[in-house]
Amino acid sequence: GNMLEIKNLHVKLEEEDKQILKGVDLNVEAGKVHAIMGPNGSGKSTLSYVLSGRDGYEVTNGSATLLGEDILGMEPEERAAAGVFMAFQYPVEIPGVGNMTFMRTALNAQRKARGEDEISSADFLKLVRERAKELKIDAEMLKRPVNVGFSGGEKKRNEILQMAMLEPKMCILDETDSGLDVDAMKLVAQGVNALRSPDRGFLVITHYQRLLDHIEPDVVHIMSEGRIIKTGGPDLALEVERNGYENLKAEDA
Ligand code: ADP
Ligand code: MG
Ligand code: MG
Repeated sequence: GNMLEIKNLHVKLEEEDKQILKGVDLNVEAGKVHAIMGPNGSGKSTLSYVLSGRDGYEVTNGSATLLGEDILGMEPEERAAAGVFMAFQYPVEIPGVGNMTFMRTALNAQRKARGEDEISSADFLKLVRERAKELKIDAEMLKRPVNVGFSGGEKKRNEILQMAMLEPKMCILDETDSGLDVDAMKLVAQGVNALRSPDRGFLVITHYQRLLDHIEPDVVHIMSEGRIIKTGGPDLALEVERNGYENLKAEDA
């Protein structure tokens, strides 16, 4: 069944009368990886911001549900508790907060919102070490402040560890613009591949086809001017790579 269901989603900026999403329809099934590609300014990041509950955007029409439950009316932490995980291209640095503490706090916030007890120190340690090992993450990284002084690759690795700890149902990654080097891109791809599971969906947003060389999405969508204008298999990403977005639009028009 559908994990994430987006119907006729219209979004405008709160500050100005500018419509950015103009009727997005998208279903991500459990177990599948969907990719969204599209030219700069087409609304890809706006979609991920709206799904994450960032301020500044107003939903003027349409809906987004996770396993049938409306998420647009939820607070960001309620979304996380419901099982939505957002990864952005530039993870924040949090000086003074240890990586372990941060992850434990995030995990406990999620458990609390679900009405579950806090995880014990011993269980947390066991879990974080297990997950770090699976993802080949150096235990040393767990002791440092969140992302402070981390290389681009380490930040990506850390983000994937956070994702693995929270066991989300729906992972949304906005890896849009340039700035991800090839190694960081491979890390993201490895992380997604490692966490692929029959009861988890992925939405991977990217401007570049090359990320999809390593992830192999099940479905590829092209977004243009606030709408999904084309949907296809992995070949669609290759077609965009060969012919560019302009030709795709011309062909559709
Ligand atoms: P993409 O991620 O596909 O490059 P964005 O979602 O970042 O696209 O942007 C879509 C459009 O919305 C662009 O025209 C962008 O300039 C505009 N936009 C997004 N957020 C804001 C904002 N806070 N203020 C002004 N314009 C914005
Ligand atoms: Mg952009
Ligand atoms: Mg973007």
